[in-house]
Amino acid sequence: MQEKTILGHPKGLFVLFFTELWERFSYYGMRAILVLYLTAETTDAINPGLGWTSKEALALYGWYGLLVYFTGIFGGAIADNWLGQKKSVLLGGIFIVFGQFALAVENMTAFYGGLFLLICGVGLLKPNISTMVGSLYKKGDARRDAGFTIFYIGINIGAVLAPLIVGYYGEKVDWHLGFSLAGFGMIFGQLVYIFGRKYLTGVGDLLKHSDEHAHLMKQPLTKTEKDRMVVMFISFLIVMVFWAAYEQAGGLMNLYARDKINRVVMGYEIPTSFFQSLHALYVVILGAPMAYFWVRWRKKGKESSSIFKMGVGSIIMSLGFVALMGAAYQLSEGALEKAPVYWLFLSYFLHVVAELSLSPVALSFITKLAPLKYASLMMGTYFAVTGLGNKLAGILGEAAQDAGEMAIFTGIAVCTLVLGLLVLVFVKKLKALTHGAEDVLVS
Ligand code: GLN
Repeated sequence: MQEKTILGHPKGLFVLFFTELWERFSYYGMRAILVLYLTAETTDAINPGLGWTSKEALALYGWYGLLVYFTGIFGGAIADNWLGQKKSVLLGGIFIVFGQFALAVENMTAFYGGLFLLICGVGLLKPNISTMVGSLYKKGDARRDAGFTIFYIGINIGAVLAPLIVGYYGEKVDWHLGFSLAGFGMIFGQLVYIFGRKYLTGVGDLLKHSDEHAHLMKQPLTKTEKDRMVVMFISFLIVMVFWAAYEQAGGLMNLYARDKINRVVMGYEIPTSFFQSLHALYVVILGAPMAYFWVRWRKKGKESSSIFKMGVGSIIMSLGFVALMGAAYQLSEGALEKAPVYWLFLSYFLHVVAELSLSPVALSFITKLAPLKYASLMMGTYFAVTGLGNKLAGILGEAAQDAGEMAIFTGIAVCTLVLGLLVLVFVKKLKALTHGAEDVLVS
C-alpha cells in the first residue's frame, strides 16, 4: 500500500511536529518568565512577583533545567516497560497542562506542585515523542534525518513564539496570565495529538504482554548492540560538553550582551532579551538549508555519518566561542568601552550551525542505534545528559564571575575544539562500532 505523505514524509510526522511545537511553546514560554517572576518585587503595584534575590532565582532555574530533562530517564523507562511511548506522551502532556495552570494560581504550594508536575510531564513527553519520530521510518530509510530536522524546526517555531507571547503578557500584564497561556499552548498540543492519533497507528505502542515482547526483554544484548551502546555513550560526552557551551546563552552570554556589548544599531538599542530568541530564529531559517547541505554532501560520497557531523558540530561551536574571545580581546585593548554587536550575532550564528549539525542528528542517531528494548530509555538518557550540560553551563557561568569571561570563553573553545578533533581522528573506528546501523537501505 502506498503510504500517505506530506512533503514526502509520513503524515504522523506533522502530528508530532505540531504537538511538540506547542509543548515547546509551553516550555519556553514558562522558562522566559520564571526568573523574572521570581525576582519581581512583591510590592510592585501592577504585577507583583515573589521578591527573590537573583542568586536564589538562578539557583532554582538551574535545578529546574537539570531535573526537567533528567527525568527523561524515568520517562523512557516507563515507556519501555509499562506504557509505551504513545501513552507516555499523552500522560506527560496532561501533567504539563496541570503544571502550568498550577503556576497560574497565586499560592506557594501550587507553585512548587506546578514545577513538580512540569518536571514529571516533560520527562514523560520529551524523550518519548522524539523516539516516536524515529519509529515513523523503517530501518535504513534515507528520510529519517530529514524527518528529525523538520521536527526540530517545529520545536524552534514554538521556541521563537513563546517568549514573544507568554513573555509579553506575563511580564507586562500578569505573571499568572503568562503561565496560563503556556498551559493553553499545551492544551493545543494535546488536541493535535489526540485528533492526529489515527496517523500514528503502530507507532509508540507497547509490545509488552505479547510473546514477542517477553522474549525480547529476556534476550541479553548481542555484541553488536553492546558496541552500539558504547558509541552512544561516547556521543553523550560530546553532547554534554556541547550543551554546557550552548546554554551559556541564557546566563553568561546574556549578561555579557547586557553589560559589555554595544547593542545600538542605527540609533536603536536592541534589547538584551532579543538575543534569547535568536537561537531559535536562526534554527528556523537555517534548518532546511543545513539539511539540504548534508544530503548533497552524502550524495557526493563524502563522510557523513552522524558521529562525524557531531564532531563537526563541536568544532563549529568552538568557533562560536572564538568569536566571543574576539569581543573580549577587543575590550581588553582598552580603546572601546563596549564590544561591537557583530561578535554576538556571529557567535549565535555559529552556535546554531553547530546545533543543527549535532542536535537533530543525535536524536536520529539514537533511534538508529538503540536496541529495541531500550529505545525510550536511551532517548531519555540523552535528554538527561543535556540536563547535566545545562547544569554545567550554570556552573561555568558562575565561575566566570571570578575567573573573568575571557578565561571561560577560551576554556570552552579549547574543550569543544579538542573533543571535535578527537572525533574526526577516530571517526572510522567509532563508525565501525555502529555495525552499519546508519546504512541507507531504501532511498
Ligand atoms: N532546544 C532543543 C529543544 O528544546 C534541545 C534541547 C535539549 O536537547 N536539551 O528541544
